[in-house]
Amino acid sequence: MLSLERMIEDLNQLATYTSTVSGVTRLSFTKEERAAKDYLKKQAQAHELDTTEDAIGNLFIRYPSENTEAKTLLIGSHIDSVVSGGEYDGTLGVIVGLELLRHASETHLTLPFHLEVVAFTDEEGARFKTGMIGSRAFAGTFHEEELASIDNQSISLEEARTAATNQPLDLTEIKADVDQLLGYLEVHIEQGKVLEQLDLPVGIVSGIVGLNWYDIEITGEAGHAGVTPMDERKDPVIAQSAFMLQLHNEVKNNSQAVVTFGQIQVEPGSINVIPSKTTFSIDLRDIEQTELDRLDQHIRELAKDIEADYGVTINVKKLDEAKPVKMSGAMISQLETAMKGNDYPVHTLPSGAGHDAMHLAEITQAGLLFLRTPNGVSHRPDETVIPEDVLVAADVLLDTILALRNKHE
Ligand SMILES: [Zn+2]
Repeated sequence: MLSLERMIEDLNQLATYTSTVSGVTRLSFTKEERAAKDYLKKQAQAHELDTTEDAIGNLFIRYPSENTEAKTLLIGSHIDSVVSGGEYDGTLGVIVGLELLRHASETHLTLPFHLEVVAFTDEEGARFKTGMIGSRAFAGTFHEEELASIDNQSISLEEARTAATNQPLDLTEIKADVDQLLGYLEVHIEQGKVLEQLDLPVGIVSGIVGLNWYDIEITGEAGHAGVTPMDERKDPVIAQSAFMLQLHNEVKNNSQAVVTFGQIQVEPGSINVIPSKTTFSIDLRDIEQTELDRLDQHIRELAKDIEADYGVTINVKKLDEAKPVKMSGAMISQLETAMKGNDYPVHTLPSGAGHDAMHLAEITQAGLLFLRTPNGVSHRPDETVIPEDVLVAADVLLDTILALRNKHE
């Protein structure tokens, strides 16, 4: 039997391994993280489950198949946190996985694949300003240069890693043997309000949104605020306002994307001077690359229209981009079947935030299940979950595992 009580006890216990009184602060390669891992290992050993830790700190707990040649189905997430974060971000996925392993062990479940739980190192990036360290190392996309990243005590990632793991680092050793992987499943809190508003305990993630970042520079003509007539002005702030409002409306009315203007600078920035130049940022996100491309084109055309209408010059600079990541269609339909089998309504939603699952999706069939997050509160001490939802998530994953068993037997 899957035990909700046991999972809640684990989650509450893990929350005590924190370096701050307010909320949970458990950064990578710290004694708090060590204590959390030791707790997980103790739970595993009580069920005679083998554990291993690799040189980047990823912790694996294994329920082996009788077939030693079998592939591995991974279930995981992370146990690090942000500073003064919550109790459930990441840890939820690891504890649901642990409970599934305990259940498998207690019921002597026969599986045609190894079932393995993984707690990936440093998903949040809160210590070294570089995140998803463990899952990227596992996927083979972590870069050796990142080991030089330092924390706020000037301790490098490599120094912290060496002290914590006592292992020499060979990234090729950490990288997954892709041929041995059957797939990856992760449960994570939604950190938004979509599921709560739909009154659903869990939802299936279609993918992680991609993003485009821009810097838009508008040059007009400075002038005296008192003596320059309104119809003779080339005011970049007015052009910028029109630009923002038109783009906002296009996205709001004709797209599923989201757009944010988070930074604005005005030069020279005097109360009595018509500005000469403005610069603002655009953060644009969508689950479809075709839509990001369409809006990219729209931004460039809009710039030309605004130039003509307001007598300014506009420089559109793309700063960064990340392609959307789709979760595996096969895993999505397995999760759907498991939900329908339990009479849970199926809802699919994109994720606006990154998760370890996006890196696993590069190397195997990855599925991500979101759990309702009350008020969408996350990365805060008052982050919470509805306990019964945790059992729903574990049930859905168990049925998914059983369906995969039938498929691969
Ligand atoms: Zn997380």
